[in-house]
Amino acid sequence: MDARRAVVTGGAGFLGSYLCERLVERGTEVICMDNFLTGSPDNVAHLMGGPAFRLVECDLTGFVHVPGDVDLVLHFASAASPVDYLRHPIETLKVGSLGTLHALGLAREKGARFVLASTSEVYGDPLEHPQKESYWGNVNPVGPRSVYDEAKRFAESLTTAYRNSHGTDTGIVRIFNTYGPRMRPHDGRAIPTFIRQALSGEPITVTGDGTQTRSICYVADTAEGILAMAGSDFEGPVNIGNPAELTMLELAGTVRDLTGSSSPIEFIDRPADDPAVRRPDTSLAASRLGWKAQVDAEEGLRRTIAWFADKLSQTPQAVAGR
Ligand code: NAD
Repeated sequence: MDARRAVVTGGAGFLGSYLCERLVERGTEVICMDNFLTGSPDNVAHLMGGPAFRLVECDLTGFVHVPGDVDLVLHFASAASPVDYLRHPIETLKVGSLGTLHALGLAREKGARFVLASTSEVYGDPLEHPQKESYWGNVNPVGPRSVYDEAKRFAESLTTAYRNSHGTDTGIVRIFNTYGPRMRPHDGRAIPTFIRQALSGEPITVTGDGTQTRSICYVADTAEGILAMAGSDFEGPVNIGNPAELTMLELAGTVRDLTGSSSPIEFIDRPADDPAVRRPDTSLAASRLGWKAQVDAEEGLRRTIAWFADKLSQTPQAVAGR
């Protein structure tokens, strides 16, 4: 059954904004809570003014109160791109720990279903490939990425403790690289970076030798997978991603072809602890949630490039400059 009233933390971010949109379309009243650290009211501007949507500026690491009934809490607040979480390391650790504590407390108080946005980054630089939910991961606890990876691992542990100790109805989704319209051109993730560079004729910067792999999932697919988890009583963790795997060099070449750009490809230093491979095993999502990604990389990239091209034509400085 669809939720009647949902709280989406981080709802003004990239992924959260799609969740707010889909929930409103399904007739759910949505309270979106965000402190705009890496998100923006622009992402949900099209929902504002409608009776089923409310945007509340709120830092999840502080006091959180929501009057009235709530039957679903989707906890998505957290910086997610490496550029963002390296710029905000303490905030990232705080929202993953204190923010998750407060979101779980809200779900417990209201008797709501709670879904944690975890990440494929809990697998670190994986020694098992593809990654199944049973794999424990290979994470450097003091490396630069640990502020994000370990915050999410702590959040998974806290979520599990609330389920076991308080009987809270919790679920954990481990989301793999997701892309689509509304990503910020300068958020530092590979796809918006490649598209921005290709569209403005700058060199496309591939880190290392470009043989490291990622599996990229179009945002509409990811949102459907998360909502399937929200509508179930499954505790997870469950991988949500598209198992089609490609190297960073292939990705850069595809973006260049689809944009019709003549940008050269330039190799730059690879960040510390950057995972060598990444591919989800999604058989659990298929069997427990009946979910599987539908949009292939070429189609998803076409849609994303069209959105960036449109943004570039309206506000060239947003894409070309900082
Ligand atoms: P995003 O940065 O666009 O969105 C995160 C949102 O959380 C932003 O709107 C930000 O302002 C908000 N936020 C951060 N700290 C907050 C705080 N203390 N209080 C209230 N709001 C706060 O990132 P995204 O890509 O939309 O990711 C959303 C969630 O999904 C994150 O939890 C992320 O870890 C998870 N995730 C995303 C991906 C992906 O590929 N996009 C992959 C794995 C996991």
